[in-house]
Amino acid sequence: MPRHRAPTRPSPVVPRALVAGAGRRGVALALIGSAAAAGSPAHAASAAPPERPAVTDPLQTVAADDFRSFVITREAPAVAAPPAVVWPLGPDADISDFFGPRSAPAPGASTFHRGIDLVAPEGTVVAASLAGTVIAADARGTGACGVFAEIAHRHDGASVVTKYCHLQSGSLAVAEGQEVRAGDIVGALGNTGVSTGPHLHFELAVDGRHVDPLPWLAARAGR
Ligand SMILES: [Zn+2]
Repeated sequence: MPRHRAPTRPSPVVPRALVAGAGRRGVALALIGSAAAAGSPAHAASAAPPERPAVTDPLQTVAADDFRSFVITREAPAVAAPPAVVWPLGPDADISDFFGPRSAPAPGASTFHRGIDLVAPEGTVVAASLAGTVIAADARGTGACGVFAEIAHRHDGASVVTKYCHLQSGSLAVAEGQEVRAGDIVGALGNTGVSTGPHLHFELAVDGRHVDPLPWLAARAGR
């Protein structure tokens, strides 16, 4: 019988909003827009623009013409695409039960484990692994899966469904029909439904078939 003992070490989950560069593009574009708007009338009015002195310090002597490329050059390296696939508890979460046949760990539990069990302290943030649409959610936790959410995704041309079970009562952060991004909060790790201790039961189906989430996630999100 697997025991879901939570480790003392918290699992690092990086909220999507903290991903380097997120949101900066908007600032850069706003600057470019205002520079162009301010610069155009001045150029139209001057028939013969005066020669510009050699630029020695771009921060102090940059001309209006140069401002556009200056902003783009400065901002481009800082803009990083958010990861397409993330681990629901971060890449370091311990695994207490693997995918595949098993003896039922509790009355009502399945003998073929259709997902993996990840352990972390109760209340740890559970993140959506990919961007997608919530297709099922139960905040009351009346079934074996307890409080859960199920999310449908498109990834590499395949239909992918992820499921997050045993979430804490009152923690469900998404509703059916809601669009989520990879890394968005689904809820908090809990012990609802048929569960022998706080853990996240995570399922992954590709084109309608349950697959082992471990190698699938490792190949795409690292581990
Ligand atoms: Zn499980």
